[in-house]
Formats: sequence, structure tokens, C-alpha cells
Amino acid sequence: MVLAAPGVPRLVLFDLDDTLFDHSLTSRAALNEVREGESRLQTRELDELWREYLRLLNEDSTGMPSTPELYQVRRAERFRRLGVMCGWSMDVAEANELSASARRNYQRLRRPVPGAPEFVRRVAARTKVGIVTNNELREQEEKLDFLGLTESVEVLVVSADVKVAKPDPRIFKVALDRASVPREEAVMIGDSWMNDVLGARAAGIRPVWFNRFGLRPPTRHRVVELGAFRPLSHADAIVNGSHRPRTTVPRE
Ligand SMILES: [Mg+2]
Repeated sequence: MVLAAPGVPRLVLFDLDDTLFDHSLTSRAALNEVREGESRLQTRELDELWREYLRLLNEDSTGMPSTPELYQVRRAERFRRLGVMCGWSMDVAEANELSASARRNYQRLRRPVPGAPEFVRRVAARTKVGIVTNNELREQEEKLDFLGLTESVEVLVVSADVKVAKPDPRIFKVALDRASVPREEAVMIGDSWMNDVLGARAAGIRPVWFNRFGLRPPTRHRVVELGAFRPLSHADAIVNGSHRPRTTVPRE
């Protein structure tokens, strides 16, 4: 699909987790505290446990969320398997306790991605802002509230609510329809290459890859990158297409 030339968008769409809300580093910090409090998890380094946790999480993620009860069972199972990795065959009660402890840590330690709330408010002062995210509605509403962005977001599209998940282009179409903005006048900013970049492209929306960890692009596409929301003026220029940005290098 041919995308429109960059220009000042009338609708700026954001992903939520790991674009505005710092899910990854919060859950790593939560895992760190669980490990610090449990010597049986200290036979492995935090980085090893974190990589395994991400791998297990990735195994579990199907795009469409399960029920909260099932999610709890799966999270406890991830901790049980971390225990196995450390040579500790923990029982269900122990796995549940570690999982609950990690959840409490997460709630206490959670944080925005640096600069994200300021940038969203800045964009919202001049144009429409939307969120397109895969998760449950209530959980994502609560995160937006935590970020202080509820009033700034005109359109919130959550996969469990609309029954379609990124990267399916139909979820982006819902956002465009709700905002009454054509795809040529929208931009999508998100950290996931598959869900946000390729998903938005498939919907005919200009993507901006939020690549704060400097990852290499996994597929051969030339996409504008944004490494950080600060300085805000630089992020503005990227979103408005008025800056010649660094673009991803296509793989041969
Ligand atoms: Mg994300």
C-alpha cells in the first residue's frame, strides 16, 4: 500500500504498553525485588531470569487477552518455571505467592516512559490523540488514568473491547472511524515492529517506530524511528514529518 507523504497529522495514534507506559522496565524492577527477597531465585542472575520471563510471556501472548483469572494462573506458572530454572521445584502455593508479590511490586514501581505524558499532552493541545492497544479495557483505562492522560485521549481502542487485536488492520480502522480522520492524515507511534509498525502500514497509516532500546528492524522496511520523547521539539518534528530522521536500514 502506498502511504501518504509525511505532513502534520490530524490524528496521532499511540500504542500504550512500552510506548507511553513503561511496562517492561517496571516488570523487570518488580522481578528484581522478588529475587532480592527469595534466596532460592538467586542461583541465577536477574538478567537470566528476566530473559526467561520475557520468553515465557511471549509464549503466552496470543494478542487477544484471556480472563483475569486465567491470566493469574499463567503468571503463577511463569514463576513456577523460573523456579525450575533455579533448581527449585516450587509448589502451586509458592508460585501464587511469588506471582502476587511481583504484582504488588509492579503496582508500586510502575512509571511512564520518560517524556511520554508531556509529549502526549503537547500533541493533544493541537490535534486529536488516540490509543490503539492490545489488552483489556479496564486495565488500559486505569493505566491512562495513572499517566494523567485520560483527558488528553479522544479515542481509546482496546483489543478486548473491539474484539480484534493488532496487527490486524481492522483495529486501526476502528480508531480512524471513531476519530473521523482519514488514514492519510494519521500517524501511529509504537514500540512493536509487528503490531504497531507493520500493523499501521497494513492499515495505510504512516508508522513511527518508537525504538528506545535501539533494536534492529526485523524485516526489510524503511520506517521513521523515534528513540525518545525528549526533547519534545525533536519528537514533534518526527511526528510532523518536518525532520529528516534516521530511518531503519533495510536488511539485505
Ligand atoms: Mg507496546
